[in-house]
Amino acid sequence: MGFNPASRVQDYLVFGEFGDVNPSITDSSTYTFLSPERMAELFEHEIEGCFLYSRHFNPTNKYLASALARMEDGEAAQVMASGMGAISTTLMTLCSAGDEIVCGRTIYGGTYALLKNLLPRFGVNARFVDLCDHDALRAAMTPRTRVLYCESLSNPLLEVSDLPALAAIAHENGARLVVDNTFTPMIVSPLRHGADVVVHSLTKFVNGTSDCVAGCVVSSREFIARLNDINAGPSMLLGPVLDSTRAASILKNLHSLHIRLRQHGANALYLASRLEGLGYTVHYPGLASHPQHGLLGRLMNPGYGWGGMLTLDAGDLATANRLMTLMQREQVGYLAVSLGYFKTLFTTPGHSTSSEIPLEEREAAGLHEGLIRFSIGLDEDIAETMARIDRCLVEAGARPVGRART
Ligand code: PLP
Repeated sequence: MGFNPASRVQDYLVFGEFGDVNPSITDSSTYTFLSPERMAELFEHEIEGCFLYSRHFNPTNKYLASALARMEDGEAAQVMASGMGAISTTLMTLCSAGDEIVCGRTIYGGTYALLKNLLPRFGVNARFVDLCDHDALRAAMTPRTRVLYCESLSNPLLEVSDLPALAAIAHENGARLVVDNTFTPMIVSPLRHGADVVVHSLTKFVNGTSDCVAGCVVSSREFIARLNDINAGPSMLLGPVLDSTRAASILKNLHSLHIRLRQHGANALYLASRLEGLGYTVHYPGLASHPQHGLLGRLMNPGYGWGGMLTLDAGDLATANRLMTLMQREQVGYLAVSLGYFKTLFTTPGHSTSSEIPLEEREAAGLHEGLIRFSIGLDEDIAETMARIDRCLVEAGARPVGRART
């Protein structure tokens, strides 16, 4: 039996103050010390079980961080107020002015904007490359490259990153591999494939109820200590701290993630197969037609499915908009950004979550105007959902590209 992230989470036991089945929630920003000497000592170095101030760490956040570290098979973790908080503080821990980041060309639009527009103001510049083209990737790495950044399954095109190959290229060039694993928690374990740091937007599948924004960083003990360092750590000094009541609720939801993933994955595979059968252009890594189907099959932990994300090319923006309006009316799901919710969510990334990427770069990468990204929900009767989608496709006039509909 290989690595089993769900069992690692399940076996993490923390009781509350009175033997409660859930850990107690820390409702304090600050902590008392028995002596001034002890306080001074804690400001100099971490002491297991002692806390100084909740922006640095608090017990409830530590419980969630420890569970996520176990899930990712990392030594340590820190939780943050958002996925972007996790990404930005990670990159600021690794890079200084004059350094470079090499990054996949199709990534979440917020990350793209951070690398393209904000970090250059602090002297950190990024090059965007097709991560499937390893020669182009090698050519983009320079002695100044500190980070190779990718998403395990890219947003929104669902390209699978060849993590062992990317780790080798990063390390050959003295860089660290940072992987955003938001789309594939439990399904892929990047640290086990050579990554140095894993980040998540916990806002998505990990939490699963679309009721809060949160993130995390998982890595070595040494890296998390640098991230939180009182004198120079970006997490400590920029302060994107997660509220402890949220950390407690996310920890509870984490315990059902494996079951939700199986249902998201089974529903997405069903819809992707049926839509492809009707002749539509569908990207879903669980389909044999997906270019990296075999690669993900080799990388994934068995038993959690192929993920809940799929894309459908409706042909053009007007048709995509008609289709999404109809699908919302027919209660297929909601026209909304984000993902990992128990309801199906759909959006055109070109006009929402990837709008930060210029049109010509989106087109060059295959992110067409008519592309709809779906986060497939936990629907009990997915055949009924498919029947509704089918009626909407006909009414919207969405024509299959492969062949005529029968
Ligand atoms: N990474 C990916 C792949 C995302 O899709 C998102 C948000 O959509 C983020 C990171 C940012 O996360 P957050 O919205 O929690 O800051």
